[in-house]
Order: sequence, then C-alpha cells, then structure tokens
Amino acid sequence: MRVLRRGDEGPAVAEVRSTLAALGLMPPAEGQAEPAVFDPVVEHAIRAFQQQRGLITDGLVGPATYRALRDATHQLGGRPLAYLVSAPLTGDDVVTLQERLLELGYDAGRANGVFGQQTELALRIFQRDYGLTVDGICGPGTVRALRQLSPRASGGRPVLLREQERVRRSGPRLRGKRIVIDPGHGGADQGVVVNGVLERDLMWDLATRLEGRMVATGMEALLTRGPDQCPDEGERARFANDAGADLVLSLHSDANSSPHAQGVASFHFGTANRTTTSSLGEAMAGLVQRELVKRTNLRDCGAHPKTWDLLRLTRCPAVRIEIGYLTNADDRARLSDPRFRDVIAEGIVVAVKRLYLLGENDQPTGTFTFADVMAHEVLSKG
Ligand SMILES: [Zn+2]
Repeated sequence: MRVLRRGDEGPAVAEVRSTLAALGLMPPAEGQAEPAVFDPVVEHAIRAFQQQRGLITDGLVGPATYRALRDATHQLGGRPLAYLVSAPLTGDDVVTLQERLLELGYDAGRANGVFGQQTELALRIFQRDYGLTVDGICGPGTVRALRQLSPRASGGRPVLLREQERVRRSGPRLRGKRIVIDPGHGGADQGVVVNGVLERDLMWDLATRLEGRMVATGMEALLTRGPDQCPDEGERARFANDAGADLVLSLHSDANSSPHAQGVASFHFGTANRTTTSSLGEAMAGLVQRELVKRTNLRDCGAHPKTWDLLRLTRCPAVRIEIGYLTNADDRARLSDPRFRDVIAEGIVVAVKRLYLLGENDQPTGTFTFADVMAHEVLSKG
C-alpha cells in the first residue's frame, strides 16, 4: 500500500477518516459526505492513535498504522473468530477474547491480538469446561458465556505467573536455553549510516560477539539473518517461533535529528494503557537496561512497551535494544570500538542469566562478570 500523509486525498483517506471518527479520535463528519483530505486534524488524530498503540508517532499512515487502525475497529462479537492457519485473524476483538480467557485461568498465550494455535486450544478447553459446543470458534454463544463470566480484576498478572512458572521450571542454568539473536537490518538495508559507520554492520558484529559468549555458556544461539540478508520483521518473528526460542534479543542503534540525543533504550511487547504487556519481556528489558547503563555509562533512556511486529508476533519474550545513537558523536565513537561491543555483549549475557535466576542472585548490577556466569553454570550442574 501507499503511505498516506498530510495533503493526500482520495478514498483511502476517507476510510482512515471514518475509522478515526468511529474510534472517537476525530469529530464525526457533519452534514454531507466526509471531505476525503488528510488535513492537520487527521494528522493530529493519527499521532494520538499511534501514541496510544505503542507505534512510532510520525503522523503517517504506513502498513503498521493501517493494520492497527483496522484491528481497532473489531469489537468482540462483531465477527466469528477462529484459527486460520494461513492468515491468522488479528484485532482488538482477539485481544479481548485472549484477555477474558486469561482472566478465567485459560492459557491463551500472550494477549497480542493474533488468533493463533494457543488461543484456539485455550478456547476449546473453555468451551468444554462450560458445556458449550467445542469447535474452537468464538461465535455468539461463546461470546455470551465469556461476557457472563467476565466482570473481575483486569488480566495480565496470570500471564506473569504462568511465564515465571515456566522459567522457574526450566531452571537457572543457561545450558540448553535457545536464544534467538536478531541483528537489525542487513543486506541492502544498512540501517542508520553516519560518517561511514553502518548500523547494519555494527549490529552484525555485536550479534556474533554475543553468539560466541552464549554458545560458551552452553546456550543455543541462533541468528535471524546472515550478513547479507534482510528478512522483514514478520519473517524474523516466524524464525524465532519455528525455532521454539526461549528468548529473542533484537539489536539496533538509534538515530535522531538532534546530535545531542544519546543513550540506550529497551523495548518489550505491550501498550501503555492496556494490560497486554509481556511480563517476562518487560522484566528482561529492565534487566538489560540496568546492566548496560551500569557497565557503559550510556545514558539511560528507559524500558518501554511497544507493539512493533517482532515484539508482537513472537510467542516467547522478546526485547529490542537500541544501543546508542549513531547520530551522537560520543555514542558513535564508543560503538566503533570493538572492546566496547564486548562490554555490551557481556552485559546482555549477564542480563539473560539474571532473568533465569529470577532475582535469586544478589550480586549488584554491573558487577556480575562473564566468568561468574561460567562459574555458576559449572556449580549448578547436575
Ligand atoms: Zn535499526
């Protein structure tokens, strides 16, 4: 599709306008037909929508914003929901279904708005337990049952408990854990380029440093791409899902129009005003952030929920780390130093180890070394 922006006109703009009006983000059209112009009012509404949804707030309607707009128009009960293997249904109605199932104690997976296999399985068990027709389809009868049973505390916490239980059961050792490392960009997509420094190549280099350390501790590390490939975000997520990954770490550097912007930020799945956050992803983002800030003195730009495709479509916890701004002279110089990239790799490995220790290690942030991790692996053998 064509990216819509301020000044555009036509039927696609009319559709966007009426969707925004239906969502209450724009006053409804008065009198005659909607004027199909992408004016400043539309742009303002789009920005508000993007902010609400954890999308990049650029005021443009590209593929991600268009999909989110379409998803937002679906209310539970408005259409039957079922698992379509080739093209899974997505929408706010799916989020509501997943949240209700989770609240009721059924493991529908992460409430990410994608009707996948896990959601279908949880729905079938719910239908069986409540004496409904067990068809895995969320139709009027199932919606009625869900509504009758639903008024209770908001969801989210059951996901945390379930995920923590899974981690606890898998134990504190790194051996056998399968980590997918996702070096950003690749191939023709160079990412941020400043003064001959390429995000694509820096992240590839960092990914291989991380891979080496992970393999040394007994983890299985898989890379989403080769040095010359650039799969899209959906393909990267599918790779991680097919591999049965325990964790996905996506590596990027940032850019800004201001040369003063600098620092490190981590992102996990979720939106600011909903309960659909990935709890372990959130925990992991916090751990990565703390270790990297402590070890590198990069400015702390915080951990934030986002709905980017890689975070949304992976079944396991996923964290995207934006390490430094290549548009900032300090950050760029530091990232260009291979020793600095070793420090980053070590910090990330320690953060992963801490995730699996579930807070059982009291060594202060920034002081746990790679050698400590290796020693712990040996000690906890057997
Ligand atoms: Zn990037």
